[in-house]
Amino acid sequence: MIKRDYYEILGVDQRASDEEIKKAYRKLAFQYHPDRNPGDTAAEESFKEAAEAYEVLRDYQKRSIYDQFGHEGLQGTGFSGFGGFDDIFSAFGDIFDDFFGFGTRRRGTRSTARAGADLLYDLGIGFVEAVFGTDKEIEIPTHATCDPCGATGREPGTDEETCPACRGQGQILQSQGFFRISTTCPRCGGQGRIIANPCRSCSGTGQQRVNKKVLVKVPAGVDTGTRLRIPNQGEGGYRGGPPGDLYVRLHVDPHEFFERDGNNLYCQIPVTMVQAALGETMEIETLDGARSVTISPGTQSGEIIRLKGAGVPNLRGHRRGDLQIEIQVKTPVDLSKRQQELLHEFAEIEMAKKSSQNIFKFWNWGGKHKQSKQNR
Ligand SMILES: [Zn+2]
Ligand SMILES: [Zn+2]
Repeated sequence: MIKRDYYEILGVDQRASDEEIKKAYRKLAFQYHPDRNPGDTAAEESFKEAAEAYEVLRDYQKRSIYDQFGHEGLQGTGFSGFGGFDDIFSAFGDIFDDFFGFGTRRRGTRSTARAGADLLYDLGIGFVEAVFGTDKEIEIPTHATCDPCGATGREPGTDEETCPACRGQGQILQSQGFFRISTTCPRCGGQGRIIANPCRSCSGTGQQRVNKKVLVKVPAGVDTGTRLRIPNQGEGGYRGGPPGDLYVRLHVDPHEFFERDGNNLYCQIPVTMVQAALGETMEIETLDGARSVTISPGTQSGEIIRLKGAGVPNLRGHRRGDLQIEIQVKTPVDLSKRQQELLHEFAEIEMAKKSSQNIFKFWNWGGKHKQSKQNR
């Protein structure tokens, strides 16, 4: 199902303030309220749709995720809309309380606490950091009390003023035919007082967008796709509910020399034909520093030398994987005249060895070799 844009649903601009968003939602919630539209499923859908849009746009963290990544971005945060009306009434009870004749009090769910949403953070780390573990400080966008105004929303040094629209009553009387209906004052939202000079730092919301620093302890042995759960560092709870959790999903950079397969490391080492034939002990740089590796005489290209315990630690245990070194024998190029002479001499000795010992084996090798012999 294609989801409509949340701003479009509420009919507000992308830059709309929290207050404008709340106002737009109140209007729609009133219009599509199930008590006013009994049995009207289209109104019911619109009511739910508006509630979902408001749930996201009223919340700084969800809103910034939505702004950046759209509907898809919210899927990882644990937010999945609302199940039914009671969820909506319990979430936005304060809004419905203002309605004349409707409300949530009779439903008795007003004080329901709700846990904060879980958050998902993608963190890139280096190859060696993943092998040995690391501490990373990350920043998550969140709400904080506005310092300059102390969360009052008023420009420092100014006071609230009596609402001129309702003269401080919070209610406005309107005449409709024979009736006089008392409605909540739209100017002050029923408070009776207004902020004439909103705080310039927070535009009167009393809250500022800040980045919360969280220390992520990355254990040794993690890999791309590993998820770390950091309890209680997600979004704040609602009405005393517990905060959500923060999930950190890891992405590990490749290494220029080592490849990783689970807890084993793999690399290739080039050796000369002479080193492979005569054998040699050489120093190899592993993730733990230099280790000496012995290539035995007569090593073939593709042979694997295994260094036990030089791989990646197991996330859930202490045993480390192995380092597998594949030997690659390089054929010499750019030979000098003298080297060529020596190799010819070498070849003659080899031929002599073969003709005396292995002549019958040579003819038993099969069609492919016979074929190339005939073509010469
Ligand atoms: Zn007023
Ligand atoms: Zn402020």
